[in-house]
Amino acid sequence: MKRREFLRALSAGLAAAPVAAVMHPPVHEGWGPADVGMGGEGEKRVTKNWIWLGPDPDVSDDEYSRRFERLKRAGIDAILPEIFNNRQAFWGSEHLPVVAPVLERLIPLAHATDIEVHAWSHIMTCNVPDVMETHPEWYDVNRKGESARDKPAYVDYYRFMCPSRPGVQQFLQQRMRELAAIDGLDGIHLDYIRFPDVILAEALQPKYDLVQDSEFPEYDYCYCDVCRAGFKAAHGLDPLVDLKDPPANEAWFQYRCDLISRLVNEDLIPIGRAAGKQMTAAVFPNWRHVRQEWHKWELDAVLPMLYNGFYNEELAWVGEQCSQGIARMKDVGVSKDLYSGLFLGDVPAQKLNEAIDTSLKGGARGVSLFAFGGLTDGHVEVMQQRFG
Ligand SMILES: [Zn+2]
Repeated sequence: MKRREFLRALSAGLAAAPVAAVMHPPVHEGWGPADVGMGGEGEKRVTKNWIWLGPDPDVSDDEYSRRFERLKRAGIDAILPEIFNNRQAFWGSEHLPVVAPVLERLIPLAHATDIEVHAWSHIMTCNVPDVMETHPEWYDVNRKGESARDKPAYVDYYRFMCPSRPGVQQFLQQRMRELAAIDGLDGIHLDYIRFPDVILAEALQPKYDLVQDSEFPEYDYCYCDVCRAGFKAAHGLDPLVDLKDPPANEAWFQYRCDLISRLVNEDLIPIGRAAGKQMTAAVFPNWRHVRQEWHKWELDAVLPMLYNGFYNEELAWVGEQCSQGIARMKDVGVSKDLYSGLFLGDVPAQKLNEAIDTSLKGGARGVSLFAFGGLTDGHVEVMQQRFG
């Protein structure tokens, strides 16, 4: 089918606001570099808006078509269906438990409305019973020696796998290959691509009756044999035995960040990209606490989850995080688009314009809404006035 270009001109007032100049990444069909305004005075600027959603096998094609038409009216250009929720797959996977091949069904329906489809997959978390049973050694181990498989932190689905394990790397590559082979799929969206939070976002700590004023051992990963041996080979020290204060050791922090970055850049991205899929990720503003140096990842775009309420912050913080993220990427010579992830629970319809304003002013090229279930008619109306 012929893909329409997703071009949106902002209002003159906003376009005149100073925005960071970002290079467009390798373009996908329908995206032309010549169309990209560089944010100069009075220039038009392209935006693209996204929404995360949970696929439902019981929803009919007709109902999905109606939903996508509503989203398109609201200026949504791309959907992110959650096709692996750390337990079950929603495409015809040959190595994971499958609920139903919903992804394959959604692609033509979304394309008929000129909406892109990006397969949203949890990555490091895995609660697949067969994997837990067969590969207990794949899971992260904390500084107390407890496996995330047996004693996950915070919530029972926090079973993160270790990026050092070749078996884990191959398991995830297999998923990328399956997704990359799906006809018409526009992109692959990586989530939970990190270690467990060593320190939770401020507003979440009271929910777990926690005051995390330092990195406690039960939340600090990964101290499995392979990670320890890898660090020792590189630095001559066993992080568990030889470091007096492991959280204070910058080399050990960096080592773990590099494990995730290597997995993303070398194992996962190339598979999707070779098949022409856009590669994106949902990432954290408090990246140090999850060892997630996403500014170094060679993605097409990042979607930081700027859920201000989780951090006890106002909406202005969202824009600050956009510009800081863009600056961090620029510092390491990586150039990719950033879309501001908004938590609709913290952004009611009457605040949505302010959230969009601060995001675009901070250099975001659009917003990504979390999630479809929280999208009210009020939100749709605001989006429609602005982008539709
Ligand atoms: Zn490990």
